[in-house]
Order: sequence, then structure tokens, then C-alpha cells
Amino acid sequence: MSELSFQNTSVAFAHKSNGELSKARMLFKSFNFPILLTYGPTMAKLAVALGLKFTIKKTIFEQFCGGETIEECDQAIAGLAKSGIGTILDYSVEGEESEATFDQTCAEILKTIQRAKGNSDIPFSVFKTTGVFSSDVLTAASEIIEKNQIVDIELIENHLMESHKQDWRNGCHRFNQLCENAANSEVQIFVDAEESWLQPAIDLLATSAMHKYNQTRAWVFNTLQMYRHDRLSYLQNQVAEGRCQYGYKLVRGAYMEKERARASKMGYQDPIQPNKEATDRDYNAAVTFCIEHHNQVAVCIATHNEQSSLLGTQCLTAKGLTSNDQKVSFSQLLGMSDHISFNLSHKGYKVSKYVPYGPVLSVIPYLTRRAQENSGMAGQMGRELALIEAEIKRRKG
Ligand SMILES: Cc1cc2nc3c(=O)[nH]c(=O)nc-3n(C[C@H](O)[C@H](O)[C@H](O)COP(=O)(O)OP(=O)(O)OC[C@H]3O[C@@H](n4cnc5c(N)ncnc54)[C@H](O)[C@@H]3O)c2cc1C
Repeated sequence: MSELSFQNTSVAFAHKSNGELSKARMLFKSFNFPILLTYGPTMAKLAVALGLKFTIKKTIFEQFCGGETIEECDQAIAGLAKSGIGTILDYSVEGEESEATFDQTCAEILKTIQRAKGNSDIPFSVFKTTGVFSSDVLTAASEIIEKNQIVDIELIENHLMESHKQDWRNGCHRFNQLCENAANSEVQIFVDAEESWLQPAIDLLATSAMHKYNQTRAWVFNTLQMYRHDRLSYLQNQVAEGRCQYGYKLVRGAYMEKERARASKMGYQDPIQPNKEATDRDYNAAVTFCIEHHNQVAVCIATHNEQSSLLGTQCLTAKGLTSNDQKVSFSQLLGMSDHISFNLSHKGYKVSKYVPYGPVLSVIPYLTRRAQENSGMAGQMGRELALIEAEIKRRKG
């Protein structure tokens, strides 16, 4: 069999017709118009209000989202499954914070777990803790954890102010319900990583759930952002405790500017690495560490970085594991880095894609971030576009 190559565009885009490729090219080209990025979100909302939802649905929404509901994602799930790629149904609604919204989001995520149950096309579920938990309470709990070096989740409530206690209990209940339901349904579940000032509480919730549900196998996976300079030692210390089977999704981290701005404004040490090289170094060290500790750790290498993805495959070989090892997988977002996902899957590696879904209007913030990431303004101009153009040219012969 030929070597793994991420430049193989015929494998990367085999699932796309000529018409679909041209449409994707037009979309990625449009991200290079700053005016569209600035006014796009407002224009999108206006378009929905004017009854032009269909236009958005058939363009940017179709590229990056599976549908408005779980049922509408069926086509995306089946399409990815044809190439051996799994789906992770990601309910991407970013709404207001209220108990009613948290309950509703929790109910929706329970539905994604049930959709994944017994279904090898949907190998993971996922949730954001702030979708089911008050951010204010998570921030307050995180401060308490840091200040008192708390490692037992049960001890937090006593330290919280009265007005936070009920919200804390409700949030813990929903968080645990999701992990318990996933483990009982034998569905692996990712807890997404968020801002550093919420993360001590999220880490403690996820670690407690791992201790509870991961005794024989990793069902609950916490996410580690390797753009933080403390995460590699955090990972190594957790695994050294040896209290359960550990599950980690490794990412670089999505909130760098926000993190740096808050640290500078509030005058505390920036939690982010000094530069990209340091982030890459720790990311790759974490990939290597997790695969070296394969007997204790299941890992999802969640990245659009070609070198880190390649490193994952090399570590598998070095450890004498097969490409389709059950405890090592790779993940990208729908509509992005198909050259990584489809080429890895073609060589037998376990790959899945986040498939965001939700009402068009509610996923506009998510779509805006994807557009910005793929724009010239973000400095990443053209990788997706260049690959699409290469494939169009190849097909024309
Ligand atoms: C499947 C999947 C799940 C994800 N889940 C989460 C999640 O739960 N939480 C989360 O926060 N993000 C998540 N992300 C986003 C992720 O954190 C990255 O923002 C994104 O994937 C880009 O990083 P990369 O490894 O793909 O690629 P690269 O292009 O190699 O890396 C870009 C990243 O490097 C880091 N970086 C860039 N410049 C610097 C600098 N000057 N100094 C230090 N670091 C720098 C930043 O993290 C930046 O996002 C997820 C991504 C994927 C694909």
C-alpha cells in the first residue's frame, strides 16, 4: 500500500461531485472579502428574518453543518460513514443562560447519546459544560478550587455563596446525567475544553466522572488545550495517579486572544504558551505521551495540523499498534481539512468529524468563526481553497 499523503486530493474529495467542489471553491473564496466577514453575521440574520434562510442553508451552513436537527444530519452521517469516517453530533446552539435553556440543551445532548448508542457510525458524543451549567457558578467554583487546592468535587458546595448553591447542584446533576447516560449506553463522550477561568471546575467534574465511569474503559474524555503551558504536566500527573482508564481529546485551544486579553487586563500570568512553537511542542509531546501510555489512556488527536496528525500515526507504529486501534483516533471539523480526515481513514485509521447542528440562526456565531478561520485576515488564507483548486484542476486533467 502507498504511503499516507495528505496531498492526495483525489481521496480527500472523492465524496464531492464537480458541482459541490465548485460551490465549495466559491464559498472559501468569499471568505477573503473582509466586508463579508465584518457584515456577514448581520446580513445572515437579516436574510433569515427576510425568509431567505434557504440561501444560507445551501451555502455556508451546508459546508460546515449537518442540519438543523439530528434527523437532518442523517445524510451527513451516512455520507461520512461511506468513507469509514465517524460522526460526532455537536449541538452548536449558543443561547442565553437560564435553567430552562440548560435543561433543554441537556435533553438535546441526551438525544445525541441515544442516537449514538450501538451505532458505529457515531463513535462519540460531545458537550460543552457551559451549555448545561451557569458560567458564573463555574467561574466561582474554579476560583475556590484554585485557592483551596480542592481535589474532591463534594467539597466545593460548602465554599460557594448561598445564591450559587442551587445552580451548582443543578449543573452537577446535568453534567453527571450526561456522563452516566453515555457510560450506561456504552457511548464515549467528550467534555469540550473552554476558557481557563472556567476550566478548574470543568476539569474536576470531568475527572470525577472519569473516576466513576472509566474503571474498565474510557467512556468519559476530558479535553486538554495544549496552548496552555500547564497542560502537559497536568496530563502526566493525572495518568501517574492511575485511578482509572483516562480519556483525553487533545486540542491546541480556541480562545487564545480572549485569554491573553483577560490576563493582561486583570494582571495575572498569561496561561498561554509564549509562542506557536511551544504550543506545537507540547501538543506533540502529549500525543506521544498518550500513545506511550496506551494501557491507561485512550486519546483523540483533534487537530487540523498535518504534522501532529502524522505524528499520531508514527507513534502508533512505534508502539506496535495497528492503524485501527480502538484507543487512538483522529478528529476534524465538518467541512474542514478533508485532506487529513479522508486520507487517514483511507489508510485504516479511526477518524471522526464534529458535525455541528442546530437552527440556522442559532449557529451563526459558529459559522462566523469558521469563516474567520478560513479568511486571509486570520493568516491561514487558502489552504482549503488551494486543495479544492488542485482537485478541480486534477479532474480537468
Ligand atoms: C475535533 C475538534 C475538536 C475541538 N474541540 C475543542 C475544544 O473542546 N476546546 C477548544 O478550545 N478548542 C477545540 N478545538 C479547536 C482547537 O483548539 C484549535 O483552535 C483548532 O483546531 C486549530 O488548531 P490546530 O491544532 O487544528 O491547528 P494549527 O493551525 O496548527 O494551530 C493553531 C492553534 O495554535 C495555537 N496558537 C496559534 N498561535 C499561537 C501563539 N502565538 N502562541 C501560542 N499558541 C498559538 C492556537 O491554539 C491556535 O488555535 C477543536 C478542534 C477540533 C478539530
